[in-house]
Amino acid sequence: MNEQTRQQLLEKLRLSIPKKQIHENVPMSRFTTLRLGGPADVLAQPSTVEEIASALAAAASLEVPVTIIGKGSNVLVRDGGVRGLVIHIGEHFAQISDPVPLPDGRSAITAQGGAALIALANAAAEHGLQGLEFAGGIPGTVGGGVYMNAGAYGGEMKDVVTCVTAIAPDGRTIAYTGEEMQFGYRHSVLMDSAQPMIVTSVTVALRPGDADTIRAAMREFNARRREKQPITLPSCGSTFKRPTGQFAGTLIDQCGLKGLRVGGASVSTLHAGFLVNDQEGTAADYLALIAQVQRVVLEKTGVVLECEVRVIGEDAPAVVV
Ligand SMILES: Cc1cc2nc3c(=O)[nH]c(=O)nc-3n(C[C@H](O)[C@H](O)[C@H](O)COP(=O)(O)OP(=O)(O)OC[C@H]3O[C@@H](n4cnc5c(N)ncnc54)[C@H](O)[C@@H]3O)c2cc1C
Repeated sequence: MNEQTRQQLLEKLRLSIPKKQIHENVPMSRFTTLRLGGPADVLAQPSTVEEIASALAAAASLEVPVTIIGKGSNVLVRDGGVRGLVIHIGEHFAQISDPVPLPDGRSAITAQGGAALIALANAAAEHGLQGLEFAGGIPGTVGGGVYMNAGAYGGEMKDVVTCVTAIAPDGRTIAYTGEEMQFGYRHSVLMDSAQPMIVTSVTVALRPGDADTIRAAMREFNARRREKQPITLPSCGSTFKRPTGQFAGTLIDQCGLKGLRVGGASVSTLHAGFLVNDQEGTAADYLALIAQVQRVVLEKTGVVLECEVRVIGEDAPAVVV
């Protein structure tokens, strides 16, 4: 994006979004759990549906590309950063409703797209509602959670989501039922959409349960995470999807790749499915590590490891010496 377009975009954004929620040339490492990635030309943090719609309209009027992120817990931003407008749907847009009883005995809770999945799972537990225990340790937003159909410990968003509302780049609001979301393993219909759709709200339907049992299950899942996953190091969780009938981490471990390092990125010695940025690596390090792991696992086991992490942005310009 050239400087003139950037200034025009900033001017338009400032008409509807508070100035402190608009950032120029901001390192994406601040917005991703991998703690790496080059700068976004412009990043906006809208706090209402109207602000999201006007950010989309501003970008469309200037033909500026739009990228959406939530908590950045499943994105790898290349070192050259992201051109155009990044819309960050996060803590500024994170309300969670009280439960509403449904005729079938379940209760519905609706969360804004930027609400933390962990906060939603905790709210459900507080109200004695079961079905979201699996999400109590997934560090993303509900928007990212439905986009990815996040899941763990036998549960996934697919099991509980009844309605997703999203805004299209032309400002239209579209409501999807759970079925229309076409959830599959780490897949939703939003990934197939030709235009980026911004999830603004997600409704889940949950059955009543025993609050103590629900909390105990969440504690147990989180204890397992602390024991088995390198949750204190920058990562994006499991870097690879689970190959059919196998576990990526087990295959990587069996190939002797735990501890394999490229620059500041390495294969976790605790859980080989986690590639961690433990020494302030670059996206280039991380991508090279992914490629090495994929190559060795393919050579030794014949299994193709597909990335779960969404790779966005541009490579850094080559340095000419
Ligand atoms: C330590 C750790 C543990 C993890 N454990 C798990 C796990 O157990 N199970 C699991 O499934 N995942 C896990 N993850 C991965 C990640 O938390 C999930 O994929 C999560 O759903 C991503 O949400 P996010 O808000 O961070 O999305 P981001 O990473 O910001 O974005 C991911 C994708 O979703 C899109 N997106 C985000 N928000 C929106 C929105 N509002 N509207 C439309 N599109 C949107 C983005 O464009 C991007 O393509 C883990 C990650 C970490 C770091």
